[in-house]
Amino acid sequence: MAGISIKGIRKSFKDAPVLHGVSLDIADGEFLTLVGPSGCGKTTLLRILAGLETQDDGDVFIGDTMVDDLPPKARDVAMVFQSYALYPYMTVAENIALPLTMRRLSTIERLPLIGRLVPGSADKRATIDADMRAVAEGLSIGHLLNRRPAQLSGGQRQRVALGRAMVRQPKAFLMDEPLSNLDAKMRVQARAEIAELHRSLGTTFVYVTHDQAEAMTMSDRVAVMMGGHLLQVAPPQTIYDDPADLAVATFIGTPEINCIPGTVHGDGAIEVLDRTWPISVAAAAGSAVTVAVRPEAFSLVQGPRTEAATISGTIRHLEHLGAETLVHVAAAPLLKPAVARVEPVTGSALVIGDPVTLAVKPSRILVFGADGK
Ligand code: ATP
Repeated sequence: MAGISIKGIRKSFKDAPVLHGVSLDIADGEFLTLVGPSGCGKTTLLRILAGLETQDDGDVFIGDTMVDDLPPKARDVAMVFQSYALYPYMTVAENIALPLTMRRLSTIERLPLIGRLVPGSADKRATIDADMRAVAEGLSIGHLLNRRPAQLSGGQRQRVALGRAMVRQPKAFLMDEPLSNLDAKMRVQARAEIAELHRSLGTTFVYVTHDQAEAMTMSDRVAVMMGGHLLQVAPPQTIYDDPADLAVATFIGTPEINCIPGTVHGDGAIEVLDRTWPISVAAAAGSAVTVAVRPEAFSLVQGPRTEAATISGTIRHLEHLGAETLVHVAAAPLLKPAVARVEPVTGSALVIGDPVTLAVKPSRILVFGADGK
């Protein structure tokens, strides 16, 4: 087992910069997820850790070893790909055992017929077989060992890919969107399984995804990446409650955080949609800011209210999700309706077109300056 240190990694493809000096320390045994929109450089960074891509500048340390000049095999990390990269003509058993076969058997021992004639190879094969079976049992795919990948479900294939990564007990697992080929229900189940696997192995996991739910539910820490920069690295709840900037705030959270333009008053309060919200900010009077409110921080107010930190408008749309209701409130001059996530509202309690007021406690309002910070 080992932690991973990434120091000042830069990478361009031709003249297009993809990583602008990324530094990150991942603790031994940590589950760290790199999350960000498509094209932000997550996979490139993971491939650099694995040695599948070479950085233009900066260093990678796995444990205490600087691995910049080591080929992928010598880095002792296991990569799990989105495509699973299973060999279609090999059985599940052969796919899982492959890293051991490649490492422990000589070229001649790897050939099944000739291998039987080589002294010592039977013992080695028996150990490999036992290791492979232990991993397969651990992943509940012991009954599938003789099948080929085409005869497996997506979830089973994904476990075979995990099994192949686990069998050689690497120092760290590097996973690139390993759940993206699963349907929505399977993904939720697999999320829990991978988190459980991490707990039981205690090995460092670096996981790449553009799916914020995966990042939030599995990780010890989340690294939010955009445009080749790390914007914030923190535990999931901190990223959600205390985002470092507006880009992180809007990327994390579904439905998206409500962003409403405001102007700072002389006394530090903020004018929002013709009301004065009692939030004190240390910015010059007249500065433009964005106030940001998570949908669940809004509550519905019955009847007219004049108190601060409210938005009044009309109900544009209602989403009854069973466990909650999303209320979309149009309030001029907002371009997009504000969205409130409230307890389920049934019957005719809320009607599209009716006036409604949303209120938020000052402690739940985030304020970002014109630079997004
Ligand atoms: P996704 O979630 O879509 O996989 P990502 O964040 O993992 O995105 P990368 O795959 O790291 O993004 O790609 C970052 C940028 O680098 C993209 O603009 C991509 O087109 C470019 N890129 C990646 N690999 C190469 C390559 N081998 N040659 C040229 N450009 C590349």
